[in-house]
Amino acid sequence: MTTETRQFKTEVNKLLELMIHSLYSHKEIFLRELISNASDALDKGRYEALTDEALHEGEGEGKIQLIPDKEAGTLTVRDNGIGMTREEIVEALGTIAHSGTKEFLKLLESRQAKDNPELIGQFGVGFYSSFMVADEVTVLSRRAGSDPGAAVRWQSTADGTFTVEDAVKDTKGTDVILTLKQDERAYLDEWELRNIVKKYSDFIEYPVAMAVTRTQPGTDGDKKGIEVTTEETLNSRKALWLKPKAEVTEEEYREFYRHVSHDFGDFAKVIHYRAEGTTEFSSLLYVPKTAPWNLFYKDFKVGPMLYVRRVQITDHCEDLLPPYLRFIKGVVESSDLPLNVSREILQNNKMVEVIRKSATKKVLDALAEMKTDDPDAYGEFYRQFGRVLKEGLHFDFERREQIADLLLFASTATEEGKTTTLADYVGRMPEAQKEIYYLTGASLAEAAASPYLEAFRDMGYEVLLMTDEIDDLLVSNLGQYREKPFQSVLKGDLDLGGEKRSEQKEAYGKLLDLIKDRLGNEVAEVRVSGRLKDSAVCLVRAEGDMDPQMEKMLKALGQEVPARKRALEINPDHALLKAMSARFERNRDDPLLGEYSQLLFDQALLLEGGRPKDPVAFAKAVARLMAERASEGIAVD
Ligand code: ADP
Repeated sequence: MTTETRQFKTEVNKLLELMIHSLYSHKEIFLRELISNASDALDKGRYEALTDEALHEGEGEGKIQLIPDKEAGTLTVRDNGIGMTREEIVEALGTIAHSGTKEFLKLLESRQAKDNPELIGQFGVGFYSSFMVADEVTVLSRRAGSDPGAAVRWQSTADGTFTVEDAVKDTKGTDVILTLKQDERAYLDEWELRNIVKKYSDFIEYPVAMAVTRTQPGTDGDKKGIEVTTEETLNSRKALWLKPKAEVTEEEYREFYRHVSHDFGDFAKVIHYRAEGTTEFSSLLYVPKTAPWNLFYKDFKVGPMLYVRRVQITDHCEDLLPPYLRFIKGVVESSDLPLNVSREILQNNKMVEVIRKSATKKVLDALAEMKTDDPDAYGEFYRQFGRVLKEGLHFDFERREQIADLLLFASTATEEGKTTTLADYVGRMPEAQKEIYYLTGASLAEAAASPYLEAFRDMGYEVLLMTDEIDDLLVSNLGQYREKPFQSVLKGDLDLGGEKRSEQKEAYGKLLDLIKDRLGNEVAEVRVSGRLKDSAVCLVRAEGDMDPQMEKMLKALGQEVPARKRALEINPDHALLKAMSARFERNRDDPLLGEYSQLLFDQALLLEGGRPKDPVAFAKAVARLMAERASEGIAVD
């Protein structure tokens, strides 16, 4: 096959376009990306060579070379890793867009990205970032184990097309050759390259090497000096996770965090430990400060990197941590696992199981510690990752209590912007209070203003205010905390009033029947409320019914939610109800009672965030009542 010109996939073209025209900050990350690709290719090469000796091709250690050429204006990043065949290169660099590309494009075009350039750093922008600094990129590659004549040359100026042609390459692996733009030639400078490697790629396990020329002072007679060229390794290659904790500096932790997380920000907590005993492993894990943009995407990669005896086996081992801790970044190294461990082996491996248990415990312990030692930092962590953590209540039965201890909620007793733990809530419960009360709402403001809270306030009972759609599901999963059951203030026939209420039930009984009769099928029941204080009425769901927030969410997702009738509760102490009751006693057929029944129901609908059945009729009725009141004692024509 000879030279062939191909079109980039549309998304790749768009990405290139944006890369070239919009991404001005952090241009230097192109080098991090290329070195990281080279390191991946070396990992793959080493991994495949475990089962196929021939792939070594007699070469020693894996190595990444930087070759700046000032005369030609090119920078080459060379590796002796796995390399690519012609088909692979066409796919990888042009015709297949990576799964995250669409989301990335969306983000790039948004204001969010313009205001927060660090978001871009969270993406593996990858190979195409080369075009931020290069006019033309050439990739010369040969798959390990193939003939020197089976190499391929890929070339593009990012003009919508690329070419591929057969080539000859003696050594296995890949050369990425960037013809730098006129004003990006600084990337040929030795110190600039050193700095960038140090900054982003210091922990790459393979040497990142560069030929460096120094002038040594000449001997006495010869003042000119001699130029000596040596190859220097620019990165320290330290396997930080294997070092004892005491020997690692904060700065080293930070650098390594950036390397494993691709996050330019900082981490909130580091969890570094070595387990000894029957299963030995080292683990360096991080709790990040800020949630990555794609934390809730289906293809979000779960789990830390897994190393076996200094060899990277996978960059995300999902068997090492449960999905509800997927925000944790880092690395685990075990010397007990076999090197050629496969996915299936990992999934059913006893040792992996032990590591997961231990790592999960360590992470939950670290979070608990953070909560006690630095509540503000923990609060911020919770804002970022609380939702993910909550998934654990559903999926990790065994550790439910421990996860419940980590939950934070606003409540009727917390100051604005503050939260409480369940333990503190329970500690504040008055003797008479038997249940943990909670209310779900779309926002804190809405929840706090809810009429359903009136009687609780009056009794001095604290109510947790939950604003996350999944909270209702979560507490019903949990059922109870420290033997105190959860009770939604929106549901069920609550009784905070005691004896007085049974008297009232008696007194209002017949009027309630009348209201129920007028409302017909609209409500399941009309009853005296145990939860109202100031409002006249409210609608209440049955204990087993769906939570209103959950219902809203399901409806928004287009799911059908069966309509369930609710109970209309009336406030027996409200002047309106008292007056209605008096009228009822005087004349059971008073037409006003029927009309008011409907208005009470409409009010209740408004209070729960809905709208009256017939808004026009409602507005007319209210206007008429207002007119009556306004014209009292005044002569109106
Ligand atoms: P990513 O690295 O996130 O997959 P890139 O755009 O950086 O995305 O690279 C695309 C693909 O090209 C890689 O997944 C890999 O298959 C291939 N590739 C890139 N650089 C190299 C290299 N140096 N050696 C072998 N394959 C490479």
